[in-house]
Amino acid sequence: MKLNSSSNFPKGRAPDLGTVLVIGAGFGGIAAALRMRAKGFEVTLVDRLTAIGGRAQVFERGGFRHDAGPTVITAPFLFDELFELFGEKRSDHVEFRSLDPWYRFYFHGGRQFDYCRSIEDTNEQIRKFEPRDVKGYERLLATSKAIFEVGFEQLASRPFHKIRTMVTQIPSLFRLKSYYSVAGIVNRHLKHPQLRQAFSIHPLLVGGNPFSTTSIYALIHYLERKWGVYFCMGGTGKLVEALHALLLRAGVKVELNVDVAEITLKQRFSHRCRRRRWSSFLRRQGHL
Ligand SMILES: Cc1cc2nc3c(=O)[nH]c(=O)nc-3n(C[C@H](O)[C@H](O)[C@H](O)COP(=O)(O)OP(=O)(O)OC[C@H]3O[C@@H](n4cnc5c(N)ncnc54)[C@H](O)[C@@H]3O)c2cc1C
Repeated sequence: MKLNSSSNFPKGRAPDLGTVLVIGAGFGGIAAALRMRAKGFEVTLVDRLTAIGGRAQVFERGGFRHDAGPTVITAPFLFDELFELFGEKRSDHVEFRSLDPWYRFYFHGGRQFDYCRSIEDTNEQIRKFEPRDVKGYERLLATSKAIFEVGFEQLASRPFHKIRTMVTQIPSLFRLKSYYSVAGIVNRHLKHPQLRQAFSIHPLLVGGNPFSTTSIYALIHYLERKWGVYFCMGGTGKLVEALHALLLRAGVKVELNVDVAEITLKQRFSHRCRRRRWSSFLRRQGHL
């Protein structure tokens, strides 16, 4: 297996296992490419866009750089692991700064609510709106923990390609009341309308509607309490840059402007990919 001379890839750990093509260079694809590379595969990562990062693109306006997608990091260890796979420390490349408050809400009428790093500070804020909701928040966190233990710890790393895998989860999904929406679960525990709004925001982070996104997404409440909420100094784009550099150091081939149109399967394994021929032409014309 050929590696960049600058690679920190642990020596003797990479048998030549074959080649892997990862389609899509969002955080998911980047992580998959790095993990497959660390296992010893020759990896090519492609994306139809002109930069890696997927939803985490960066744009400039009015002299400022803006993150187009994700802005906060709630499971920092997942990024740390990617650097550790190659004997590196993420903190040597990008700084994640712990936030407090995590979120600040400005309501019509001028009231402000801070959703804080410590439960005590958050409770103090809740008390100003509705003292009874302090107990309700405690119950909401307990519900969120129960969802987290199934939704994150048991299911997050499982592929749902097979109907059987999905069917076996139905009892837990019922037990966790996944038929409720995020707002539905929050409203069961909190009384004050503005607190209900504040504690239902998480689906908005991914373009979801709190009134229709399944309550499984309410696991974020506990996830945030477990690992905290961080900001990548310089913006999420800075993290994407650091991951791009890591991909190159690790010897992953990154190809942009590649729009995959078709994957051919041979004996259930992907065998060949066809590139959409006209994609680069259209992009040059500004149509995509
Ligand atoms: C506005 C917004 C705010 C968010 N805020 C947060 C946040 O604060 N914290 C947080 O943790 N998450 C947040 N999220 C969610 C987070 O951005 C996503 O969960 C994550 O970026 C998804 O990564 P992904 O790799 O799964 O998919 P994507 O980022 O969508 O990447 C998929 C990639 O595949 C490429 N692709 C697709 N089809 C093809 C093809 N046929 N050929 C070639 N390439 C292809 C696409 O171009 C894209 O680059 C936010 C999302 C949005 C939209």
